[in-house]
Amino acid sequence: MNDAQSRLDLVLAGIAGSARLARRQPADITLVAVSKSRDAEAIEPLIASGQRDFGESRVQEATAKWPAILDRHPDVRLHHIGRLQSNKCAEAVRLYDVIHSLDRLSLVESIAAEAFKAGRSPKVFVQVNIGSEPQKGGCAIDSVPDIVEAVRSSELELLGLMAIPPLDHEPAPYFALLSKLAKREGLAGLSMGMSADYESAVMLGATVVRVGSALFEDE
Ligand SMILES: *Cc1c(COP(=O)(O)O)cnc(C)c1O
Repeated sequence: MNDAQSRLDLVLAGIAGSARLARRQPADITLVAVSKSRDAEAIEPLIASGQRDFGESRVQEATAKWPAILDRHPDVRLHHIGRLQSNKCAEAVRLYDVIHSLDRLSLVESIAAEAFKAGRSPKVFVQVNIGSEPQKGGCAIDSVPDIVEAVRSSELELLGLMAIPPLDHEPAPYFALLSKLAKREGLAGLSMGMSADYESAVMLGATVVRVGSALFEDE
């Protein structure tokens, strides 16, 4: 078995194990393989092992890297998980199936306008700055209702909320808070959990986990 396959199997088993403990169905959790800074040579073995959802942080890097891979694997879905600048929305809408980082009202308009022009619309998560960290992306917790409302009155399909807990903190309370905020808004989707904490995220309701290093590097 090659390394990509064994790492993928390990992460999928971790997701399935946590899902069962939480009395959830493993199939209700989507694994996004975070391939930022990885080249096609590193990505292809994961695709060959059956992985179909990939996440990227920078539009420019993704635009340079993915069209050639997508030509070979048109069933791959691409997720944008990094900050999104308004002037990158046109490119983002053409490339991505899901945008996890919608965090301000102006982005709702920019993404919706570009989606209309392109005749193709990514689904979105509203990103929340769950630890209220000044340097982090994501909207303030207090502005979640307004942004959710704006997305709902647009043509965009809203999947749920996304967050990255503060580094060096126990992540579980932040996952629980994000889950509570999503419930309050009647949203089913929760994009949370990375290599270090995806099992905890699944226990607390994650429907999408974004895992990079555990899939691309040996422990
Ligand atoms: C890089 C990144 C990840 C993956 O992090 P790992 O620790 O490598 O699993 C997940 N989400 C976001 C938003 C990221 O930028």
